[in-house]
Amino acid sequence: MRKALLTHVKRVVVKIGSGVISTDAGLEDDRVAAISTDICRLLDLGLEVIVVSSGAISAGKGQLGITGRPQTIPQKQAAAAIGQTQIIPRYKEVFQGSDYNVAQVLLTRDDLSNRRRYLNARNTVMTLLEYGVTPIVNENDTVVVEEIRFGDNDNLSALVTSLVEADLLIILSDVDGLYDQDPVENRQAQLLSMVERITPTIDAMAGESRGNLGVGGMNSKLKAVKRASLSGVGTLIANGRTPNILSRIFAGEEIGTYFLPAQSKLTAKKHWIAFSKKPRGKLLVDAGGERAVVKQGKSLLPSGICGVDGGFERGDAVRLCTRDGAEFARGVISYSLAEVLQIMGKQSADIEKVLGYKYRDEVVCRDNLVLTIEEEEVD
Ligand code: GLU
Repeated sequence: MRKALLTHVKRVVVKIGSGVISTDAGLEDDRVAAISTDICRLLDLGLEVIVVSSGAISAGKGQLGITGRPQTIPQKQAAAAIGQTQIIPRYKEVFQGSDYNVAQVLLTRDDLSNRRRYLNARNTVMTLLEYGVTPIVNENDTVVVEEIRFGDNDNLSALVTSLVEADLLIILSDVDGLYDQDPVENRQAQLLSMVERITPTIDAMAGESRGNLGVGGMNSKLKAVKRASLSGVGTLIANGRTPNILSRIFAGEEIGTYFLPAQSKLTAKKHWIAFSKKPRGKLLVDAGGERAVVKQGKSLLPSGICGVDGGFERGDAVRLCTRDGAEFARGVISYSLAEVLQIMGKQSADIEKVLGYKYRDEVVCRDNLVLTIEEEEVD
């Protein structure tokens, strides 16, 4: 059964959590070696692998004399800068032992928010894959501040999955998968082998569990699963400390929890609008405009706009909200704030009369618009 679900997989993103390759005492070289060897076996099978590896902060903090999680942002940034120099050589050494090469790719959320930089990052990773080199991705922790972080590498791995149009996301952490109850508190807890859809019941099973070393707990993993699922990709959450976990997954063993992808997926561009591109302002939309967008699958015309909140330029992503500010969609806008202020409430036929020119009839065209995903707080 599992094997059948994985036969189409050619390109896989493997996220390695801090808890898989490090302890509070720092990087565990033998863990990196074991997981690297396992990845090389996937490469032997002809798979393309993109690694998203955490662990920089926990690897580097020891050199700063820090035990436990570093508290301040500068401490985390300094620790990441140190740790990254330890992690990459470990991967490289083992990959080279099997005649493979690795490359380091450090990304910030801003890189993926900007369409040009997003496509650039994509080209770089695709070129590495073409040359048979395995990219090892991490957040560029050293230069990002809290407000512009991906948040955690679970999220980053889901965005990378869409970026490279991978066929599968594997999240390796220090737990075996999703349990129906907290396995620490309840010995009867059962591991779920397959989840068809993330319902509120499934969300509740994730609880508030959180590892000590990494940032994301099961909640952030489920969020990543949803995001990957909307690009049409299934996710496997499994224990990265289990020997040969990746080879065993591809041998078809029922191991970890497999989350089926959503039936209807977003195109890569819409996925980018929903999750990678940072929204700027809000358009307040009247009931007619909301109905046209949500129920009838139409574009947003100037006539449906009854207010604006915040600034934006042509080409920015904006939130489409009801009059009381509840977001129901987001999309890339074809007019600037100054222009919208002049044409809102008017007919498309009048745009040219008002502005002296017209880019298009729609303010947010359907092709660049995504409905807000159920219960998903897209930030
Ligand atoms: N980028 C962080 C690191 O390398 C990890 C973030 C996370 O745990 O999700 O330490």
